[in-house]
Amino acid sequence: MLSEQRDMADNAPIILMVDDSRLARVVMAGILRNAGYHNLLEASSAEEAFDLLKQEADAGPGHGADLVLLDIVLPDADGITACSRFKQDPLLRAIPVIMVTAQDGVENLEAAFQAGAMDFITKPIKEVELTARVRSALALKLEMDRRKAREKELQKLTRQLAKANQELRLLSARDGLTGVANRRYYEEQLDKQWKQSARERAPLSQLMIDIDHFKKYNDRYGHLAGDECLRKVAKALEETLKRPADLLARYGGEEFTALLPLTDAAGAQAVAETMRSAVEALAVEHRDAHLGMVTISVGAASCRPQPGQDPRSLPAAADKALYLAKEQGRNCCRLGEVAI
Ligand code: GH3
Ligand code: MG
Ligand code: MG
Repeated sequence: MLSEQRDMADNAPIILMVDDSRLARVVMAGILRNAGYHNLLEASSAEEAFDLLKQEADAGPGHGADLVLLDIVLPDADGITACSRFKQDPLLRAIPVIMVTAQDGVENLEAAFQAGAMDFITKPIKEVELTARVRSALALKLEMDRRKAREKELQKLTRQLAKANQELRLLSARDGLTGVANRRYYEEQLDKQWKQSARERAPLSQLMIDIDHFKKYNDRYGHLAGDECLRKVAKALEETLKRPADLLARYGGEEFTALLPLTDAAGAQAVAETMRSAVEALAVEHRDAHLGMVTISVGAASCRPQPGQDPRSLPAAADKALYLAKEQGRNCCRLGEVAI
């Protein structure tokens, strides 16, 4: 039952008075209005109180009663049972409850506090006492609401930060032009894979891949076409790698590298040849190259890493092999010796 028109315009606190005595409610309402509280709800039974609180809470976040004044003796259920029912409801749990008890009911207070009540006042109600208790209960509720809002905001910010960090990590590992891993990421992985292979006594292979006569491609077709060609080649190279641990990275300019864990020399040569033919199959026109289209040269190297050895011996050998492939006519693959 609504005692008076709700003042919807402001954020004034909503106080629910639960008492089967109309007179008691009238007295409390008078005192509360005098103290400046005008959003008053009334219920004459526990059931009615529960319905009203639910109705208010269902209006969504920022709504809901801010305080319940609960008579300890009610017609349908005693106030203590009603209080514990409010406290078990996740939507109503946070609403402070002040028990209202007759002077001779003070022994029930322990049970009331156990049921979740935060305070009590005794009948007959005294204006100063009611006003003071209501004020402090509302101040506490306001502070708790603020903290909850801050905590929610903080959780939201933390989630946003985690997402941004993840994106940043991805971005910092990618090459902006081709989308494959960048040099920095490759360097990290070389170290890691070297150690991992040493631990597993497994072979590790690396390919150095370089586009043939790419300077001339840029000169004839322009830099934008050159960039587009780099993207196409990167995509074709990446598509040839089938194992999840294989890594393709842009090494610099028109050079790529592939790290192939658990792969021996024969395997590395096979992957190199697949890459070479995949790029040839793209059939990107390049009038200043031998075949009239874009091709790559590939240097391969393979070894069984040992702990403590310098991982850079692997790319160095692959690089030498690449140089050999260039010397021996381009659009071919050569295998190098790792000097450890
Ligand atoms: P080779 O067959 O011996 O490898 O000859 P090349 O012309 O490919 O080799 P060189 O190292 O002389 O030239 C590499 C060229 O790659 C230089 C530059 O024009 C081009 N290049 C490097 N990075 C980029 C890039 O990000 N975008 C474009 N469009 N071109 C690039
Ligand atoms: Mg080059
Ligand atoms: Mg080149």
